[in-house]
Amino acid sequence: MSGVLVVAEARRGAVRDISLELVAAAGSLVRGAGGPLVVGLVGADAEELAPRLDVAGVDEIVTVRSPREHFEAHVAEQALEALVADVEPAVVLLGHTIDALGYAPALAARAGLGFASDAWSVQWDGMPVVRRGAYGDRLVARVEFPGRDRVLVLMRSGAVEPAAGAGSARVRALDVAFDEAAIATEHLGYREVERGDVDITQAEFLLSVGRGIGDKSNLSQFEELAEALGATLAVSRPIVDAGWMPSTRQVGQSGLTVKPKLYLAFGISGAVQHLAGMRKAETIIAVNSDPEAPIFNVAHYGAVADLFDVAEALSAREA
Ligand SMILES: Cc1cc2nc3c(=O)[nH]c(=O)nc-3n(C[C@H](O)[C@H](O)[C@H](O)COP(=O)(O)OP(=O)(O)OC[C@H]3O[C@@H](n4cnc5c(N)ncnc54)[C@H](O)[C@@H]3O)c2cc1C
Repeated sequence: MSGVLVVAEARRGAVRDISLELVAAAGSLVRGAGGPLVVGLVGADAEELAPRLDVAGVDEIVTVRSPREHFEAHVAEQALEALVADVEPAVVLLGHTIDALGYAPALAARAGLGFASDAWSVQWDGMPVVRRGAYGDRLVARVEFPGRDRVLVLMRSGAVEPAAGAGSARVRALDVAFDEAAIATEHLGYREVERGDVDITQAEFLLSVGRGIGDKSNLSQFEELAEALGATLAVSRPIVDAGWMPSTRQVGQSGLTVKPKLYLAFGISGAVQHLAGMRKAETIIAVNSDPEAPIFNVAHYGAVADLFDVAEALSAREA
C-alpha cells in the first residue's frame, strides 16, 4: 500500500477548482511517502473530463462511469470504495466539500481508515500528518493516525494553490458493478442562486460589514459609506440571518465566493466559514476592536479600532 489517491470533483461538465488543489497537496505528500499519485474521477462524463486533470505530477487518472447524470452520495461512496480497493493508496485525499462530506466520512468509518476533515495541510513525516484548525481556528492541531496504515483526509478548499503544468498521465477506466438497491437518493435539479440587484462576485471593491455593526439601524451608515467610496456592500451571515440584508450579499461558505481587488471588513471576526468566501481577495483590510480576531490572520492591513470611528473618519474624508 503506497501512494496517494486524489478524488477529483466535477459538476455540470466542469472540473471543480478543489481537484487541482488536491493534486498540489498530494504532490508534496508523494515526495515523502512515495508514489504513485493517482487521480480518481467519478461521473457520467468522467472519461471526457479526464484530460483536464492531466497536470504535472499526476501518474494516472482512473475514471469511473457513474450510472447517474449528477452527483449522488451513494454512487460516489461505492465508487470510492472500488477506487481504494483498486489503487491501494496509503492516503486518500478529497475536498472538504458539500459533496465529499456526504459520503467520505461514512466510508472512512466503515473501512476503519484514519480520518481528518477540514485539513489545512497534509505532509509526510514518516507517516501522514495533518494540520487543521481547532477552537475556531485559534489553535493549530497536529493530527496523527497511530495504528492506521491508510488515512482519508478532507482538505479545506483554498488551502493550497492549484497544481498546474502539462502532465502525461495514463488514463484508465475502472468498471464498478454498482448496487442499484443501495442508491437511495435522487437528484431533482439545480436551483440557481439568486443574484439580486447586485452581483458581489463581480465587484472589485467590497465594503463588508458583520455583527460588529450592532444594530440594523446602523446599516444605512455603511450603505452610504460604500456609495461614497465607490464600493459594493457585502455582509457576513449573521446580517442575513437577522433579515437585515438579502442572502445575495452574503460572503462565505454558505454564501458567495468573492475575489475583489479590495475587501474592507468592518466588525467581522473572520470565522472559517466567512474566510472561505473572501480569503482570495487581492487586498484585505480589517477593522475590528479585538486584536485577537482571526480576520487579522488573513488581512494585509488591519486597524484595531472602533468601526464607527473609522467609518466616520472615512465619511468625513469623502464628504
Ligand atoms: C455551516 C455553516 C456555514 C456558515 N456560512 C457562513 C457564511 O457563508 N458566511 C459567514 O459570514 N458566516 C457563515 N457562518 C457563520 C460563521 O461561523 C460565523 O458565525 C459568522 O461568520 C460570524 O459573523 P461575524 O464575523 O459578522 O460576527 P462575530 O463572529 O460575532 O464577529 C463580530 C466581530 O465584530 C467585532 N466588533 C464588535 N463591535 C465592534 C466595534 N464597535 N468596532 C470594531 N469591531 C467590533 C468583534 O470583535 C467581532 O470580532 C456559517 C456557519 C456554519 C456553521
